[in-house]
Amino acid sequence: MACKFGSEHDLIKAAVNIFMKEFKGQVPEVAACAPGRVNLIGDHTDYNDGFVFPMALPLLTVIVGKKNDADKCVVVTEAKDADKPVKVEFSVPTTGSLAPGTPKWANYVKGIVQYFKGTVVGFNAVIVTSVPIGGGLSSSASLEVSLYTFLEALTGETDTLRKDKALLCQKAEHEFAKMPCGIMDQFISVMGQAGTALLIDCRSMQETAIPITDPEIAVIITNSNVKRSLASSAYAERRAQCQAAAKALGKSSLRDANENEIDGLREKDPLLYKRAKHVVTENKRTEQAAEALKAGDLQKFGELMVASHESLKTDYEVSCKELDELVAAALEVDGVLGSRMTGGGFGGCTVTLAPKKTAENVIANMKKKYEGEPVFYIMEPAEGTRVLTI
Ligand code: ADP
Repeated sequence: MACKFGSEHDLIKAAVNIFMKEFKGQVPEVAACAPGRVNLIGDHTDYNDGFVFPMALPLLTVIVGKKNDADKCVVVTEAKDADKPVKVEFSVPTTGSLAPGTPKWANYVKGIVQYFKGTVVGFNAVIVTSVPIGGGLSSSASLEVSLYTFLEALTGETDTLRKDKALLCQKAEHEFAKMPCGIMDQFISVMGQAGTALLIDCRSMQETAIPITDPEIAVIITNSNVKRSLASSAYAERRAQCQAAAKALGKSSLRDANENEIDGLREKDPLLYKRAKHVVTENKRTEQAAEALKAGDLQKFGELMVASHESLKTDYEVSCKELDELVAAALEVDGVLGSRMTGGGFGGCTVTLAPKKTAENVIANMKKKYEGEPVFYIMEPAEGTRVLTI
């Protein structure tokens, strides 16, 4: 069975209840949310100025709160997987800058408060989420973006352009959470559109919405429930290797390289060659996949997903045994169009495209073949961040 997850209404209700308990006698007045995402194809390309093809999910982070007239930000998360304490208090950044510290989860909050384009006032807030934390579906970006939207609603300062909002949220993650992420997660959490995946050109920050409308097709997300501590150091290492490869080729980024050009690295630096090969071929696959979806050629889309997984596994070396097992189990089922790891890698999720009528078989086979405890979601593309009514 696919996992049931809280609706927007359930999440608001849960957040309001926690708020009334934590901040006795008070009722929240403002609410906002932002979604997690799954990337259908195009991984480790965003920080190379390349192409990605994510869709926003109906998994949401919801924040409720109100002003407190105290120049303090008091924030509570109900997330069981966040480090402790779950309640933090810090001063509104009027004079000194905020600095990252512990608990780690509060760094995402502080980063947004610090970089919000407007005057932050003191507030009390509660965060609830249905995005699995650290599962590769971007709970962190949904936290950043939902908080930014919450602050806009709280202060009435709504002049930030949506793309700038994504960039400020990315900056918060770089500077406060110390994760050198690309722009994909924040961008789709801001810009997501119901019923469509977005082909995003991470250099120009232009998006093309491509509908996923076939009612017979399911997007199945499988959370391996594996997260390796090496993930963030390996991410930074891959990023540095891409920069080194671009430099060796005399390019400002791998976006500008083609397969002939990277051939020169094959002998000189086999490792950088493999990294560059993934990026260059993944950019091409991602554009082709968007074209295939537009043309209704799901067979082709699925083949590109499989090739993408192979490239992430062999050339980019960011997959792991568990993700490979899940992908192989999905592909064994008749009718499955494609399956691949999604996100940063070393754990997290896979994404599988399959006819809806085969979904239960796909889930059953993955459960049978996988040694761990996977969680499944069957998802349709959802909209991006928004202010909610309590
Ligand atoms: P993901 O793929 O889920 O974004 P990351 O490791 O990048 O995984 O980010 C997960 C981190 O983001 C958590 O460890 C926590 O610090 C923070 N986080 C995300 N959502 C929440 C939340 N609802 N409450 C508190 N912290 C959160």
